[in-house]
Parts: sequence; structure tokens; C-alpha cells
Amino acid sequence: MINLNKYLSQIRSYFGFYYQYIGFGILKLFLLSSLVGLMDGLGLAMFIPLIEISANPEEAGNLELGKFGWLLQLVKSIGLELNLGIIFAVILAFFLLKGLGKFFQMVLLVKYISSMVRTIKLSNAKGLSELNYVEFTKMDLGQMQNLLTQETTKTVSSFKFFSAILQGLGLLIAYLTLAFVSTPQFAVIILFAGAFLQLLFLGVFKRIKNVSTQIVGSHNSHFTLILQMLVNLKYLIATSAAYGYFEMIRNNTITLEKQNVKIGMMQAFTVSIREPLIIAVVIAAVGIQFTFFETELSQIALSLLFFYRGLNAASGLQAAFANFQGVAGSLQNMQHYQKEIESKRRKGGAVVFEGLKTGIRFKEVSFAYGKKEVLHKINLDIQKNQTVAIVGESGSGKTTLMNILSLLLPPSSGQLLIDGEDAVRLDPATFQRKIGYITQDPVIFQGTIFENVSLWGDPSPENLEKCWEALRAAEIADFVQQQPADLQTLVGSNGMSLSGGQKQRISIAREIYKKPELLLMDEATSSLDSTTEQAIQTSLNKLKGKHTIVIIAHRLSTVRNADKIVFVQNGAIDESGTFQTLIQNNTDFKKMVELQHL
Ligand code: ADP
Repeated sequence: MINLNKYLSQIRSYFGFYYQYIGFGILKLFLLSSLVGLMDGLGLAMFIPLIEISANPEEAGNLELGKFGWLLQLVKSIGLELNLGIIFAVILAFFLLKGLGKFFQMVLLVKYISSMVRTIKLSNAKGLSELNYVEFTKMDLGQMQNLLTQETTKTVSSFKFFSAILQGLGLLIAYLTLAFVSTPQFAVIILFAGAFLQLLFLGVFKRIKNVSTQIVGSHNSHFTLILQMLVNLKYLIATSAAYGYFEMIRNNTITLEKQNVKIGMMQAFTVSIREPLIIAVVIAAVGIQFTFFETELSQIALSLLFFYRGLNAASGLQAAFANFQGVAGSLQNMQHYQKEIESKRRKGGAVVFEGLKTGIRFKEVSFAYGKKEVLHKINLDIQKNQTVAIVGESGSGKTTLMNILSLLLPPSSGQLLIDGEDAVRLDPATFQRKIGYITQDPVIFQGTIFENVSLWGDPSPENLEKCWEALRAAEIADFVQQQPADLQTLVGSNGMSLSGGQKQRISIAREIYKKPELLLMDEATSSLDSTTEQAIQTSLNKLKGKHTIVIIAHRLSTVRNADKIVFVQNGAIDESGTFQTLIQNNTDFKKMVELQHL
């Protein structure tokens, strides 16, 4: 009983999932299938008078069609004489209607599927873009990639099978109704035979579904393995660790192969056993009919037709069910993922950020990753258009501080005040739109240099000129000019490879192009040689006083001119002031400066 409840609630959840994409489309598909079955059945029923008239043309007026006599009456009542031609025409009309129903059914299906693909892809991508950053850092990227690509396709194909189930059901009900009208005892046999076949396969279906869930797991692992391999390939090859890694991939693919073969075999079994089973049931039914009931031959022939069609529909239903179970793991995975993404959505206020007026204040801000506190009661003022540098040892909490400043992380306690307004009340996107961020690992997108700098902006003459200006300021204009397609040169994974320093300079150009109010830099010039760094520093110095700039720096030479330097130690601000005052007042800072031979 518990199992039945579980089963029903699962079916409800499947319906619920599809309902959110196509609403009552599910019902439309089902009704169209019933109509198709009905037209097919009635068309077939008309073959009986057709055969009788062919055998005995003068009996045309006295034809009977058992319980379907009304059909012939209907033809007569519209003033048509029953003859070969008319019956042909009626049969054709039924099959045309069936064709029409089938046409609409297929068109609807393709429309539903296409819109489902669009909606799932968009909602998943939107979910990602609204994801809470802390939750994102905990996610398995390989699993996500699998979900967003392969699992999306499989989820959509699950709907194909689901609609095949609905079609099978629609047909089955239509034939059952016809069979019931024609000879009730036949309908009962069909019902029993159908239920019997279904029971016979239940165990197999359950196993198929289990293997399908395992396959999703193996695919997730595969994506994770491949993704990590791609990201760390240089290291893996250079240290010969690639072999060990390859071994893991080998094991994963072998498992996947075994699972696929297993599921394929079970599906092959359910498909191939169908026909013999149906034939056995048909023979049994005819035997029962002849032995226990006195029925006319034409009636038996007609019922047999419905019977055969009905069983076919039932077995089609079964095949669809087996296929559906084969991808049900993916559907469940997707349902789970969507719920998870929804629960991990970034929360924010509604206040629109219009622009910085006075400044930003950290007020007693602490932050903990789980139980581990990494920032402790930070108090910090960043005034508008000030340049503030954050320095400190690795692991002291600089990046975390920057993440709080860019609203990627909310303080665990304390407040981040932006122009006196608590940041939790701000709509984060409106604030982040005004941020430029130059990260330690430069961000390069696959596309042209212009696209990378303008972030897919309109290539108008003004924007192109603005782009060149930014490139000049970032000391990379000469390099771009030397490329055959200058601004249109492709970079990124399918384009030209750039050195670390070139990537960094393009990232800097992007932020100069954007002219952000708040420019954040995280070791932004760390991968540059000292000459280039010096040149960029000169450009960045030009921004000083015009933008609010917050820099994380290891190399203290780059922050000498900052208005304020904040020295962070073990998650707390040890001291802050200008370069000179810090040297005078803080021995740790002084030591750090001396170590860097400044
Ligand atoms: P810094 O930028 O000064 O090197 P971070 O702010 O990156 O320091 O890290 C501060 C501390 O927080 C470190 O001890 C680091 O291990 C920890 N930390 C950083 N990111 C995470 C995370 N996603 N989960 C748990 N701990 C983290």
C-alpha cells in the first residue's frame, strides 16, 4: 500500500512537472489520441459491410453491423444509399479524420517539446545567474554541466515517452470502448490481459528505472572528471599524473557502458516479448469466444480487430513506459535540481542603487564559512572616489572582504552600509551593475577582442573608439593593432591564445571601458612583468580620484599611492592608514615592506 502511494505521488509529481511547462496540453494530447483511436476503430468497423457487400451486392439494403448498426443508419439517414462506393467514401472519411487528428497531435507534440526545451534551458540559466554565490562555491561543476546539457535533453525526451504513454492510454480507452460496445465479454478479456501484461513487466520496469538513476550518477561523475581534466590538463601532463587520472575515467566509462548495456537489454526484452504474448492472448480469446459464447463470425472478426488493436495499444503503452522509466532518473534529477536552485537563489532587497553618493562603510562586519569565522568585526570606511588598498598575508580574509563588498557574500553579522543604507535592502544587481572587477584569474570569453572589452556591445564607431582608448590605457593597443583582424581578432578557447599578461590587460581594458563607479582589483597586475605593470599602474593612477577603487595587493609597490591602506591579519583589521603612517606604526607591515625590498 505504501508502495502504491509512493508510486501515485511520483506520477503526480511527473504530471506536475510537465504541467508547469505545457499546462492542459497533456489533456489535449490525450483527447486527440482517443479521437485517433475512435476514428481508426470506426473506419475498421466499416470494413465488415464492405466485405459483405462485395460478397453479396444485392443484400446492400439489409446490412447489419451488430452494435454499430447505427453507423449504417447514420449513413442512410443523410440520404445516402448503401453501396460499395459510399462505404468506401465513409471509410476514407474516417481515416482522413484519423490522419487529421494524428497531424494535430504530432504538431502539438513538437510545439510542446520545443517550448519545453526553451523554457527548461532558460529557467536553468536564469537560476544559475541568480544563484547565491556561497551555494555556488559548494556545487559540483561537472554535475551542473551534465544537468544543463545532457540531462536537459533527456528530460525533454522523457516527455516524448510520457506523451507516448498518454497516446497509448488514449488509444487503449478508445478501443476498449469500441470493444465494449461491440462485445462486452471481449472488453473484459482485454482488461484482464492488459492488467496481466502490466503486472508481468512491473519488476522489469522498476529495475530499468534504478539503472537509469545510476546512469545519471555516472554521467555526473564523467562530466566532473572531464571538466577537471580540461582545467588542469597542463599539470596532469607535465607531472605524468594524467595516467592515474585516465584510469579513473576508464573505470567510470566502463561502469557507464555496463549500465547502458543492462538497460538496453531490459528494454529489448520488454519490446521483443510483446508480440508473442499478444498472439498468445489473441488465440486464447478467440478460443474462449468460440467455446463459451455463440457469436456471429462477422462480430468476432470485428471484435478481434478491436482486440488486436487494443492489445497493441496496451503493449505500445508498455514500451513507452519502459522507455520512460529509462529516462525517469533524469527527470527526477532535473526536478530535484530545479528545487535546489530555487532554494539557493540569491536574496536581495528592492531598493534601486542609483550611484554612490558618499561612501561605503563596513560596520562590525564578521563572516563565517560554516562555523569557521574568517572575518572578525571589520570596521572600515571607503569614501567615494577614494583608493583603498587591502594588504595582508594569504588566507587573511582579503578576498572574502572583497566578496562582501561586491555583495557576493552577505555578512554573517554586522552591516555593510552603502551611502548609509544597509546593503541587504539594496537590489544587488543594480549595485553590481556599477562594479568593475579585475580578478586574479583574468576573465576571457570566447569571442572577438571588441566583444571581450565591450561585453558584446554594439560595434558603433563611438564604441569602437572607446574600445581603442581602453586598450591604450591598459597598454595592449599595440598588440591588438598587430593582429590581422585587430579588434575583431578571435580570442578564447577557439581563438588565439593569449599570454597571462595579455589576458590581464584585456580584462583591465574591459573595466576601463565600462567606467565603473566602484573598481575592484584582486592582485590585478600580478601576472605582469614589472615594466608592463608600471605602465598599467600609470594608467590606473589616472583613474584615481575619479572612481572609488579597492585593490587587494601582495606587491606593496603597487599601492604606495593609495589614499588608505588596510592591513588585514587573521580576519581582522590590524591597522589602517597611509603607506607612511603604517610603516611608522605597524611593525608587521614594516617587516612586510622590508621583505619586498621597497
Ligand atoms: P585571502 O584573499 O586573504 O588569501 P580569503 O578571503 O580567500 O583570503 O580566505 C580567508 C579564509 O577563508 C581562508 O582561511 C580560506 O581557507 C577560507 N575560505 C575561503 N573561501 C572559502 C570557502 N568557499 N569555503 C570555506 N572556507 C573558505
